[in-house]
Amino acid sequence: MVEPLYLKEVVCQHCEMSYKTSRVRPSFKKPVRRDADFCAYYKDEGVNPEYYVVRVCPYCGFATTESFSESMTDAQKLQFQEKIANFWQITEYGGRRTWEEAMKCYKLALLCAQLKQESPRIVSGILHHIAWLYRYKGDHEQESKFLEFALESYIQVYEQEGTDMNDARLMYLIGELSRRLKRYNEAIRWFSRVVNDRKIMDASMIQASREQWQMVREDMRRDKLSPEEIEAIHNEAEHG
Ligand SMILES: [Zn+2]
Repeated sequence: MVEPLYLKEVVCQHCEMSYKTSRVRPSFKKPVRRDADFCAYYKDEGVNPEYYVVRVCPYCGFATTESFSESMTDAQKLQFQEKIANFWQITEYGGRRTWEEAMKCYKLALLCAQLKQESPRIVSGILHHIAWLYRYKGDHEQESKFLEFALESYIQVYEQEGTDMNDARLMYLIGELSRRLKRYNEAIRWFSRVVNDRKIMDASMIQASREQWQMVREDMRRDKLSPEEIEAIHNEAEHG
């Protein structure tokens, strides 16, 4: 039988030592299902590819994903040295990771991304992944907290990169996270943008936005809003 994990060598941006990190083989990356915000579920929790996105240097604790920028200033290095590396005890995250280890890796990556001032796009991805990890565990309170952070960060991406960058997936995600946080008004506004913007050609995102827009109606019914209230929210969202 093929071992689902393989090792890849990484050079630490901070201490420049090389170390090995585990990756999941592509043939094991097929999820059994996905939530509407792309959170994926796999047969074998121990080889969930989401657990292996972050690489952690065993020698200093510096954590990155493949999307991090290559460079690091001396000031950032010093800051990391003082905040983390000085207190770090050699820890190996190279093998199979448990949920707890995966969470630790993401929290380290979040810290390093903020310290390095990585782009909001990278930070949003990490925040969204942390929310998914809490969802796997059924911790709704922490999940909502990190969905909220991720949503704020995605909106920042949208505002920074401008509306002419036709990013249907980003707009859809902002809508879906708003829906999950029960901000129905905003959710509808984002879904309707994807559906009605003639410049958007991404058929799968248009379809998904239609479906989740419908889902918002069901959410509102479940939350016992009256038909008049639902209508008012729709009108305001579409025309506001
Ligand atoms: Zn290092």
